[in-house]
Amino acid sequence: MDRTGLLIILSSPSGAGKSTLARRLIEWDPTLSFSVSATTRAPRPGEVDGQHYHFIERPEFAKMVASGDMLEHAEVFGNLYGSPRGPVETAMQAGRDTIFDVDWQGGQQIRTSALGPHVVSIFILPPSLNELERRLVQRGQDSAEVIAGRMDKSRDEISHWAEYDYVLVNDDLEESFERLVSILTAERLRRDRQKGLGGFVRTLMEGEGA
Ligand code: ADP
Ligand code: 5GP
Repeated sequence: MDRTGLLIILSSPSGAGKSTLARRLIEWDPTLSFSVSATTRAPRPGEVDGQHYHFIERPEFAKMVASGDMLEHAEVFGNLYGSPRGPVETAMQAGRDTIFDVDWQGGQQIRTSALGPHVVSIFILPPSLNELERRLVQRGQDSAEVIAGRMDKSRDEISHWAEYDYVLVNDDLEESFERLVSILTAERLRRDRQKGLGGFVRTLMEGEGA
C-alpha cells in the first residue's frame, strides 16, 4: 500500500553495534536505503568511498552545508559528518525507508526538522561499558588512542538516550536484530502512515457482500 518512506535513525555510542544492525536490516529488506554520510574523516582500512561514506575535504563540506544540501550535520570526534538531503528525499517520495547511522546531534536535527513526522528513532545501548570497549578493540579498526577518545565520548552520547522513540540493549545480536525488525514492521503498519487506507476501506465497504 502507498506510503511515504520512513527515516529510521540509529544512534549509539561508537562500538555498540549500529552499523552491524543496519547491515543486517538491509540484508533482511534490500528495499531499504542507507543514507551514506559525507565526512571529513580519513577512510579506515576497508572503507569504500561512496559506500561507507563520501570522504570529502572541509571546503566541499562547507559548500554543501551553505547550499542547503545537508539534511543535518555535526562535528563528532573532531571531524565533520553530514547526511546529504537529495537521496533521502528521493527515497521518501518513492515510498522507500532510509536508515541513518548518525550521532545524537544528527538525530535531534532530523527529528525537529519538517521531516520529523516520518522519523522513527532507535537508540542502541551496550550491555556495559566494559563490553563497549571490548567491541571497539575487537573491531580492530582504531588505535588505542582513538578507542580511548571514543570511550570518553560514550557517556555524552548515552546521555541522550531518552530523546529516542525506542531503546535496544544490544546484548545478544540475534535478539536485537529481531527486535529491530519488530519495530520497523509495526511502524510501517501505523494507520497514519498508510496513505491509501481510506480508499481501500471505502472500496471494501462498497464491494460485494457489503
Ligand atoms: P558501531 O557502528 O555502533 O560503532 P559496530 O556495528 O561496528 O558498532 O560494532 C562494533 C563491534 O562489535 C563489531 O566488531 C561488531 O561485530 C561487534 N558487535 C556488534 N553487536 C554485537 C553483539 N550484540 N555482540 C557482540 N559483538 C557485537
Ligand atoms: P565513525 O567515524 O565511527 O564512522 O562515526 C563516528 C560517529 O559519527 C558515529 O556516532 C556516527 O553515528 C556519527 N555519524 C556518522 N555519520 C553521521 C552523519 O551524517 N551525521 C551525524 N550527525 N553523525 C554521523
